[in-house]
Amino acid sequence: MSMAVDERFDPYAVFAASVKRFPEHPALRIGALQWSYSELEAQAASIAGWCELNTPSGSRVAVHGAKGAIAYAAILGILRSGRSYVPLHPDHPPARWRAIIERSGASACIADPTYAQQIQAEVEIPVCSDPSGASVVPARGGEEAYVMFTSGSTGGPKGVPITRANVAAYLEHVLTEYRFRAGEHFSQLFALTFDLSVHDLFVCWGSGGCLCVPEDDSALRIPSYLEQQRITSWFSVPSLASLLRRMRAIRPGAFPHLRYSFFCGEALPVDLAKAWCEAASGSAVVNLYGPTEATIAITAFDVRKMDPASTGTVPLGRAIGGNVARVERADDAVEGELLLSGPQLSAGYLNDPIATKKAFVKAPGDERTWYRTGDIVRLDVEGILHFVGRTDDQVKVLGHRVEPGEVDTLLRARVPDASVLTLPISGSGSTRLVTFIDRNVDTPPLLLDLRKELPAYMVPERIICVDGFPTTAHGKVDRKALIDLAQHG
Ligand code: AMP
Repeated sequence: MSMAVDERFDPYAVFAASVKRFPEHPALRIGALQWSYSELEAQAASIAGWCELNTPSGSRVAVHGAKGAIAYAAILGILRSGRSYVPLHPDHPPARWRAIIERSGASACIADPTYAQQIQAEVEIPVCSDPSGASVVPARGGEEAYVMFTSGSTGGPKGVPITRANVAAYLEHVLTEYRFRAGEHFSQLFALTFDLSVHDLFVCWGSGGCLCVPEDDSALRIPSYLEQQRITSWFSVPSLASLLRRMRAIRPGAFPHLRYSFFCGEALPVDLAKAWCEAASGSAVVNLYGPTEATIAITAFDVRKMDPASTGTVPLGRAIGGNVARVERADDAVEGELLLSGPQLSAGYLNDPIATKKAFVKAPGDERTWYRTGDIVRLDVEGILHFVGRTDDQVKVLGHRVEPGEVDTLLRARVPDASVLTLPISGSGSTRLVTFIDRNVDTPPLLLDLRKELPAYMVPERIICVDGFPTTAHGKVDRKALIDLAQHG
């Protein structure tokens, strides 16, 4: 991106500035482990030194995302060395790690010592778990910050490279808008493979806060963790808040320490947002929205300003910072597809010019590149965006983005000539996937195969064999009839 971005908000620079200002403040807490800013910087500097010695300049370095201290130091160290990081989810199957390493061309992997041997057995690049002893070199700038992989409809993970300037544009807005005090306690609940974790890490370290990583992040343990750690800044997908609500943990006054609550990743139901506002009465509550392609989040809405009579889902708000949003509508339509442009936009998918050309477009007479989100929105008279739905099949399963087509492509390769269709089935506040195949096949081995290639949330709950797909009066596949079959058949 050629747009001018304030370099002080570069992700490594914001951390380095806090190291200078608050060297002895806690920066990272995981269970009994606590590192101060200067301790975390020392670890990051060793990792940067290791990268200098062992990986090509400017290359990508994978990070095994088990949330041990080394993963956090690795992210910082990789950036410090001018390289970019590629997170691998610890629970995803090794075939997925290999696909991501291959697609990103990562030159090495940094992993917690507990997992290093297991990972080394699965991947061909060098795995480092002990960078100590590497000589410390000065911090360098770099172009790219990270590559996150999301579900791709053509049958494999799709890489989204994000530059340091993209992240700086986000940080500049968030750090100036919300005025965090030094010493804030930030929750770190997102997987490192989800770009919302970048907010956790760098908003925290950019404001002199302590990043609090629960060792057990099951929903059951979260309320007591919040209390024990005196968490003051919360960030999660609405699904997690929904789960807490079902556990009856969101009672009025339940979260007295919270000063900030951010939600992002999927639609935030109004009733849930209202319950959260009462539980965290001293907290700003913000609905963030944004695809990975536009870096973390690109619109924001202050939930406390919501019309009390609202129902449905919380508005998405307006574009933040120097970003712009445009709704592409037919003349008489009130809704349309949301297009985004600005300093947070990725330049396009990694090594995928076809997908890039489809999603990153130019309008006649306009120099800017726009990203087609695939989200349908409504723009109200005050210029506030409201979420309506999707133009395609993409769904969210517990906040994870899933292209059902990715599941279908893998299955079609195994059952040639069959018609395959994966559909989302919603019920009791969550979404599940069910796949239909118009052939009589032995389904357990197919599901086993999928588990070897896909993250658990992408594996359909069931595969249902049908004798031909039902069709509508227009001759299209009758999705509703299939969903009914899954629910009641
Ligand atoms: P991801 O790239 O995984 O962050 O997923 C981005 C997609 O999640 C968006 O294109 C939306 O469909 C959905 N999304 C993210 N935030 C929100 C939100 N606040 N409300 C509704 N949908 C959201």
